[in-house]
Amino acid sequence: MKQADVPPIWQHLPFHRGYPVPYFVQWLPDASGESMPNFHRADGRKWVTCLKFKKCWVCSKSLDKASFMVTGPKGLTNRVGTDCFMHEACARESIRLCPHMLYQKTARRDVDSDSLILSPHHDLTKPLEIALVKTGAWQIVHTGLTYVINYQPLAVQWFHYIDGLLVAKTETLAPVDSNGWKRAGFKVVPINKL
Ligand SMILES: [Zn+2]
Repeated sequence: MKQADVPPIWQHLPFHRGYPVPYFVQWLPDASGESMPNFHRADGRKWVTCLKFKKCWVCSKSLDKASFMVTGPKGLTNRVGTDCFMHEACARESIRLCPHMLYQKTARRDVDSDSLILSPHHDLTKPLEIALVKTGAWQIVHTGLTYVINYQPLAVQWFHYIDGLLVAKTETLAPVDSNGWKRAGFKVVPINKL
């Protein structure tokens, strides 16, 4: 991708080796000491910032009324996620452009063990289907091992892989039953305790 092809909503993001660098990416020094983005690793401090100040996980701008998540079938069933909320446009562009979602063959890597967001709920098997989820209420819970976001799903649109590429399976967002979305058995963590 050329920088000119980056969607307008992401033009303010740093550009690295053909890709805009999402806000959540952790920057680490390479062998020469230069700061480089590690696309496989989310920055735990940014996770806290996004939740506390209601910022988008991808573009870092303020989230307005509706927030979205991108997850797999298991994440939607469990109603917990490790990635923070996004604008609808950022979620859709991520599904369209992120090479880790777009190409089925790309391997998924775990976050590093010292990361705040390491989660046993983070299934390393790449899902065959991806859900774009419009979310409502949410809370932070501690599972006993880590922090995760427990959210209320309001509507979902499904994407799936055809010939190794991710394409829409259902046309639009459709309402989803969110009764009993609050997970029992996990400790709820007030946002100011993060
Ligand atoms: Zn955004």
